Amino acid sequence: MIYLNGSFIRIEDARISVLDRGFIFGDGVYEVLPVYSHKPFRLTEHLRRLQDSLDGIRLKNPHSDVEWKGLLDQIIASNEGNDQYLYLHITRGVAPRDHSFPKDVIPTVFIMSTPLLGSPKELLTTGVSAITANDNRWLRCDIKAISLLPNVLLRQMATDSNAVDTLLLREGFLTEGSSSNIFVIKNEILLAPPKSHLMLPGITYDVVLELADAHDIPYEIREISEYDMRTAHELLLTSSTKEIMPITRLDGKLVGSGKPGKMFAQLHQLYQNYKATIMRETS
Ligand code: PMP
Repeated sequence: MIYLNGSFIRIEDARISVLDRGFIFGDGVYEVLPVYSHKPFRLTEHLRRLQDSLDGIRLKNPHSDVEWKGLLDQIIASNEGNDQYLYLHITRGVAPRDHSFPKDVIPTVFIMSTPLLGSPKELLTTGVSAITANDNRWLRCDIKAISLLPNVLLRQMATDSNAVDTLLLREGFLTEGSSSNIFVIKNEILLAPPKSHLMLPGITYDVVLELADAHDIPYEIREISEYDMRTAHELLLTSSTKEIMPITRLDGKLVGSGKPGKMFAQLHQLYQNYKATIMRETS
């Protein structure tokens, strides 16, 4: 079951106009959030980022947080699986094709749920491969825009090399992955690129830094040079659907020892504990 513009329907029955500005211009924003044991994880934070994305494209939020919560609860209840991930998508609506904003148009709102399977266990033991590329995206990567063509092309480069993601370098500095945030570990210090218009402010990124803070893991939020990245002892990839994953090969070379390191093991465990605590609290 999906939600589209006021109706809960089967995905096969969902229809939108070819004049939808999402279809024509990629004029919209989205969110992806995990649901564990039927409960949305970090809902407030995801809804706040959605609001920031909507503000970024000057589109009025069609729903209050309470309304969003009601819609999401219905979608969660009408889909299979304790663990799911929700995809929320808002476009500027249907209007004759013209770049300028149309007047008095109702935004298109779409929500769907997909089973959340989690990363295969063996990948957490072996780690995953990543490649690098120049970050050729626009300068508002902080907006979670549905126009994802550069991310799609960058991610396909990874897929073509049997890698999980492409790590992006802009003017010699690491920004993020094509669909993830990246942390670098050097000399037992967790390094995180600072939030800016050059990267998406990841919800998982925030959780990792909160956990580091709460558990006295040394960390620094600072620019990460290509040299820092290539000489890292560990590299970590984070996202709502992949949680925390160890990158053990970069451009075909081993990262550190080539095995998931101590920082990964510690943060992964803390993340699992945190999830369990949060889920208990919200039940
Ligand atoms: N950066 C990009 C470009 C992403 O697409 C994503 C999520 N898919 C992230 C970072 C991670 O964000 P989050 O932890 O909120 O999923």
